[in-house]
Amino acid sequence: MDLSKRQEQIIAIVRENGPITGEKIAELLNFTRATLRPDLTVLTLSGILDARPRVGYFYVGNQTASVFGELLRKSLVRDYKSVPIVVHEQTTAYDATVTMFLEDVGTLFVVRDGGILCGVLSRKDLLKLAIGQTTLKEVPISIAMTRMPNIYTVKPETSIYDAGKLLIHAQIDSLPVVIPSEVASGQWEVVGRVTKTTITRLFVELGESKQV
Ligand code: ADP
Repeated sequence: MDLSKRQEQIIAIVRENGPITGEKIAELLNFTRATLRPDLTVLTLSGILDARPRVGYFYVGNQTASVFGELLRKSLVRDYKSVPIVVHEQTTAYDATVTMFLEDVGTLFVVRDGGILCGVLSRKDLLKLAIGQTTLKEVPISIAMTRMPNIYTVKPETSIYDAGKLLIHAQIDSLPVVIPSEVASGQWEVVGRVTKTTITRLFVELGESKQV
């Protein structure tokens, strides 16, 4: 919602001085109470200000935005993650390409025995290999993947909000969801994935006001 300059001024006054009467706000702005009435109505109806008889106006903020933010912070990766599509580090570039098509994903997570995360392979990593005219049926993906410890990951208890922020900050499409490995200490086991689609799906659900 776009606010006028005068509405912004009213909000600033109420934030600082509230609860405050309409007459007092008008006085501070050098307007008549009648001139301000439409602005005060808009601000009250939109939930930014609230008014109590004999008390005056006070600031309640943009509650819609804060409810939305809280929902995203309370929604956890554990409840929205999808199944990770993993390949072994010795998989050839050709087989990895086929897996991407068959599984309909844009990113593969590369693992060692025990499901230990050791790399991430994106579409462009494979394209780079193709441009280099490597023999795709022979070359292992380990030469093209991004390796640990340079991989951004999230935990099941990470919030969807933090996962989304990380996707944007790192300019990537996909995050492995990891837990500490039980078989190899200091290593991470892949248990899921969060992608831009995961975030978009939640966004659409919220837009449809479905229970989340
Ligand atoms: P694409 O390369 O198909 O556009 P991305 O933008 O996700 O897909 O990948 C860009 C680069 O970032 C690739 O080199 C990929 O290996 C790497 N990458 C992808 N996901 C991650 C991640 N979670 N952590 C670190 N690097 C990643």
